[in-house]
Amino acid sequence: MSSSLTRPNRRPERLLILGSTLTVLLIVGVVTALLIREHANTLQTAKRTANTITQLIDADVLRNVELYDMALKGLISATERTDLQDVSESIRHLVLFDRSAAAPYKGDILLLDPAGEVIADSSLLTPKLGNFADRDYFQAHRTNPDLGLYISRPFMARCQCADPWRIAFSRRVSSPDGRFLGVAVASMRLSYFHQLFSSLNIGSNSTINLLNHQGILLAQEPLLEADIVDKDLSQRPNVARMLRERDGSFQSISSVDRQARLYSFSNVGNLPLIVAVALSSDEMFAPWRRAAWLVSIATGVLCVGLLWLTWALCMELRRRHRAEQVLSELAATDALTGLANRRTLDERLRLEWDRAQRSTESLSVLMIDVDHFKAFNDRHGHQGGDEALRAVAHVIASHIRRPADLAARYGGEEFAVVLPNTDAKGAWVIAEHIRKGVQHLPRVAGDEQPITVSIGLSTWQKHSRISLEDLLLKADQALYQAKHSGRNRIVDVSKTSN
Ligand code: GH3
Ligand code: MG
Ligand code: MG
Repeated sequence: MSSSLTRPNRRPERLLILGSTLTVLLIVGVVTALLIREHANTLQTAKRTANTITQLIDADVLRNVELYDMALKGLISATERTDLQDVSESIRHLVLFDRSAAAPYKGDILLLDPAGEVIADSSLLTPKLGNFADRDYFQAHRTNPDLGLYISRPFMARCQCADPWRIAFSRRVSSPDGRFLGVAVASMRLSYFHQLFSSLNIGSNSTINLLNHQGILLAQEPLLEADIVDKDLSQRPNVARMLRERDGSFQSISSVDRQARLYSFSNVGNLPLIVAVALSSDEMFAPWRRAAWLVSIATGVLCVGLLWLTWALCMELRRRHRAEQVLSELAATDALTGLANRRTLDERLRLEWDRAQRSTESLSVLMIDVDHFKAFNDRHGHQGGDEALRAVAHVIASHIRRPADLAARYGGEEFAVVLPNTDAKGAWVIAEHIRKGVQHLPRVAGDEQPITVSIGLSTWQKHSRISLEDLLLKADQALYQAKHSGRNRIVDVSKTSN
């Protein structure tokens, strides 16, 4: 029996899957591009912020150093005046330190003689005895007459005070012929930087640093390590890079706590100082990371939802297709025997007839009728009759093997077989197999008589001028003859009438 199953049409499913996959890829692509752009924007904004902070600190430090320098210059030019020998000590003190009041966080401004002894002190009319010949600035000026303004390393002031850390700004005092006459020095509390830096809120894991050109750390806020002030950091890769480049920004891992930071740094005016802002990448990208998580989760849910919907829709399409197939099979099949029904037979006959006309290949038809079936029904009841019809149908179906062949229940206890591309001889062989097969069906218990069938055969061949209706009529006539000539036989009308 040929199957009426059609190949499932997968095109809508494929289109659906392709469409959804493309949509998902598009969504993921757009979201990824947006997140990358937002990441770049965040970095850009952080760079601008860090840059602004360095500029602010730069300006403030520069302005203060200038104030200190003015005070030093004032002190030195006052020492050069000869008219101060005769005035009172208090007036001399006033003249020496008249420009020293403006700088904030100032320590003492001192005038040291060539041996490092204090000869004038801004805070005392009569200076306290003391020698500062061991300080780095004193030695630097003594050995080098052209230093100009010198900024010292951080040092501890010789006082019992809460914030002893100082740095000193100093200038050499020289005679007109260049002889070393001493040093004018102003010290500044490092707490100035602490105040300045902590007024700028940059986050707990980020730092602001002030270094000199030797890589000595002058100030850091907040302090990442204890005892880091006055430490030589020039060997640390990030510091080395800043000392080399003087101005710029880069992202790197801190060699201290292994955290990623954005370093933005610039040289303070022409001074040998570098201010560096190190912003923690974790803090910098925290809002972006939160947004990225949210967007990714939402996108993931959306995409999974879309794919799930597509899958559900595909399953529904398949289910419907299967249901349609089952329905169309049912509509084409005879319920009792499982063979094709009359409607399918008519359609297929017309189809094969047309094909035969085009190809001029022969087409044979068998009309099969169960013999004395009324009597069989009477003997075995209607149910026994149904059973017998199923058995006959099974024999018929088992003897047609080509895909184009079709066995159908014509009605009642009559069957029809369509055999495309089969001549009368071939059809006769098949008919004989069917006849014998039915005859040899196992007998129903207690019945002497076997079930038999009579078969009428007719064939269309090239050049025979008959219609499809004639072909069927001839098969009917052959069946009629088979009945009348004794049943359980095959009759081919073309053999008898032509
Ligand atoms: P013949 O050899 O001349 O064909 O004799 P017959 O008795 O087979 O012919 P007839 O046409 O007189 O009787 C056909 C019988 O087939 C009538 C009906 O009871 C029986 N029949 C038709 N369809 C069915 C069916 O679906 N089930 C059963 N059990 N019997 C059927
Ligand atoms: Mg009949
Ligand atoms: Mg019959």
